[in-house]
Amino acid sequence: MIFFCFFNIVLLKQLSIGILEAVFGLLNLGIFYLAYQGKTKPWHKCLLLGSITITVLYPFYLADLRAGSIYWLLLLPPLYCLLVGAKRGLFCTILLSFPVLILLFIKSDSESYFSYRSVINFVLAYFLSYAICYLYETQYDKNSQRLQEMAFRDPLTGAKNRHSLKLFFDGFNKKPLDPFQQEEEETRLLIIDIDYFKSVNDEFGHDAGDAILIEMTELLQYHTDNQHVYRIGGEEFLIVLEQYCQKQAYNFAESIRQNIENTIFRTHQQNIKITVSIGIAQLIKGQSFREFLRVADKNLYSAKNQGRNLVHYGAMSVTEVI
Ligand code: GH3
Ligand code: MG
Ligand code: MG
Repeated sequence: MIFFCFFNIVLLKQLSIGILEAVFGLLNLGIFYLAYQGKTKPWHKCLLLGSITITVLYPFYLADLRAGSIYWLLLLPPLYCLLVGAKRGLFCTILLSFPVLILLFIKSDSESYFSYRSVINFVLAYFLSYAICYLYETQYDKNSQRLQEMAFRDPLTGAKNRHSLKLFFDGFNKKPLDPFQQEEEETRLLIIDIDYFKSVNDEFGHDAGDAILIEMTELLQYHTDNQHVYRIGGEEFLIVLEQYCQKQAYNFAESIRQNIENTIFRTHQQNIKITVSIGIAQLIKGQSFREFLRVADKNLYSAKNQGRNLVHYGAMSVTEVI
């Protein structure tokens, strides 16, 4: 825009176009700087699109068709699609096409249906430029969603994995404190470990062990509405309970423990019974992920030490341990 501003003012003496390009060019430079610093707001996108649209449309309106400003209009549909998404991008593309087509029709040579031909050619190229960008965008979105699924899910059980837990953990630490929150209603974690799982593998085979892990995940997911079920180790799971007081968390853990104790896992023509030990910990702001896992492990270890197949409310919180 800055280049064209110079070109229009100095060489072509098109003052109004030049000034417009200078103003919007500087504005866009400002938005670019904000984006570079990661400080953009959603309305900056609208400002950017609006300024670019006007800067492209105005010379097209003023200048002769032979000047070629029409070519720049073909850049707008992909820009809309990339900046505001497929649906809103299509809306902007269609909206802009009305004034453009009317202007094009008026400006085109009407001899031997030349106006119709140029309008048709323009319409096809204009909407195809949107369609190509749309196809690329949707494919790109699908791929990145698939990659994200792969990165944050455990491939065997489909439960969320440690990366995902770390993400939740970081988000939790960043959340501002609620001054009205009652101390009792906080985030609790259940760390669930299958008892003597090694002997299940030894007795029934590794495949049967895998099948149990999958069924176990389904069972845990069925019990939790919030879908916060993570597989944090081989036969270790973690459930996040948001807004649970100590008693509620204990009762919930106890119901899971009983449910698993009473479930018969039918796999590979075997009926297998397992039990779990559950440690409960409270998630406290400000702790690091490593510290948290260390304390979680400690709580589980206490549960195992007190005899398996039980729920243990960890007496230690992270801050106390440190
Ligand atoms: P404890 O009651 O003390 O927890 O005993 P445990 O046998 O469950 O614990 P230990 O840590 O000694 O063994 C864990 C076992 O879990 C060892 C390993 O064979 C099994 N395991 C870990 N990951 C997988 C997996 O993905 N599939 C299967 N089938 N087994 C697994
Ligand atoms: Mg175990
Ligand atoms: Mg274990």
